[in-house]
Amino acid sequence: MQSKSPLRIAIVGGGIAGVALALDLCRHAHLQVQLFESAAAFGEVGAGVSFGANAVRAIAGLGLGEPYRQIADQTPAPWQDVWFEWRRGVDAGYLSASVAPGVGQSSVHRADFLDALASRLPDGIACFGKRAVQVTQQAERLQIRFSDGTEHECDLLIGADGIKSSIRDHVLQGLGQPPAAPQFSGTCAYRGLIDSEILRGAYRERGLDEHLIDVPQMYLGLDAHILTFPVKHGRLINVVAFTTDRSRPDPQWPADQPWVRQASQAEMLDAFSGWSEAAQVLLECIPTPSLWALHDLAELPGYVHGRVALIGDAAHAMLPHQGAGAGQGLEDAWLLARLLGDPQLLDAEVPLMLAAYDAVRRPRACQVQRTSRQAGELYELRDPATAADQARLGQTLAQRFDWLWNHDLAADLQQARRRLGWLQTA
Ligand code: FAD
Repeated sequence: MQSKSPLRIAIVGGGIAGVALALDLCRHAHLQVQLFESAAAFGEVGAGVSFGANAVRAIAGLGLGEPYRQIADQTPAPWQDVWFEWRRGVDAGYLSASVAPGVGQSSVHRADFLDALASRLPDGIACFGKRAVQVTQQAERLQIRFSDGTEHECDLLIGADGIKSSIRDHVLQGLGQPPAAPQFSGTCAYRGLIDSEILRGAYRERGLDEHLIDVPQMYLGLDAHILTFPVKHGRLINVVAFTTDRSRPDPQWPADQPWVRQASQAEMLDAFSGWSEAAQVLLECIPTPSLWALHDLAELPGYVHGRVALIGDAAHAMLPHQGAGAGQGLEDAWLLARLLGDPQLLDAEVPLMLAAYDAVRRPRACQVQRTSRQAGELYELRDPATAADQARLGQTLAQRFDWLWNHDLAADLQQARRRLGWLQTA
């Protein structure tokens, strides 16, 4: 960074994307990083999150490979390369498997992952109880105002404040666009974690195959699907059971209803009545599921306005059907950290650098958003090309994710550097 004083970077939002970015940036002496989180502490829900090969590479590139490996689960041999096995919901009959060589299903408990990241942040970087409510850009300086009346000045602002982002409003307004409200998908998801020994006991009692516990599974049915994968080194099985109401083309979630609530086991079992015993026994082992109303965002016309950029769900919240949302936030963080950490970056070039980030990341993240929605149609037998043809459905699922996992992050960086005329020293 060829300027006298360090570039002052503010990150708003301390979820996976914001903390991962902060961790990488604070290793550079020429950057001064401050992270503002609205909650009183970092926090994640008690559930699993899985990462594709692309996200695992981004994690390693952010310097977090070792802490990640210590807490991550991988499917036991000889199924270590299996991401999910695909089965019919009605009888658990095998359709196919998606295979990601060298990675398979790589998953962690969310809170463990965020703790592992947050515990590595140097003191003084994170400020809590700071809800950003307004941003003003004047010439080359930015002012963030918080709900407690305080303000913070910086040279560059990253909005990592999730699907309900307030920084997004500033960016879209700056681009002359209307605000982008989260949209309800019509899908709700029951979530629970099961002690794997309890599930094993229940499967043995019914004579069910324990392979279905050890290897990640997706059970597919009309307007519903269930996924399972292990977390906490196999001690817990993460279960998500999705149901979709497709009776309305434009489903609306009531504004006065929370997106997450406690559900009863009876209502969950009712939603999956007629499903295979393997699926029913799973759900019988979740006495108190939570129910999540799944929202996503429309593809945004831009992630950047001047010296402000969006990353993670603030930019591209998506449905969880490809297990890719957090991974896209990590790809954002990886690319931005490489560009910001480059000593060639001049303060005056910050808007150009952010424009290069936008040009490279947005088409890919939008494609992941789009295909995540399409994946839900495929899994819930609403895709006209495969719904009535199980062999074709199995083949499609087996290969569907390769483009997502095999993405070349280094080529993205080259493309951004080329836009900035930086290639000669790459
Ligand atoms: P968040 O985690 O939403 O973090 C935003 C942070 O900003 C929060 O800490 C919030 O308190 C703070 N904040 C908000 N507003 C303000 C403000 N104004 N000022 C200051 N701070 C603020 N992704 C995967 O990759 N794999 C999966 O397997 C997967 N499974 C999923 C399953 C389900 C059911 C769901 C719903 C999602 C799943 N996802 C998955 C998606 C993933 O959870 C998200 O993409 C990811 O957590 C988003 O991280 P983030 O840091 O961008 O945002």
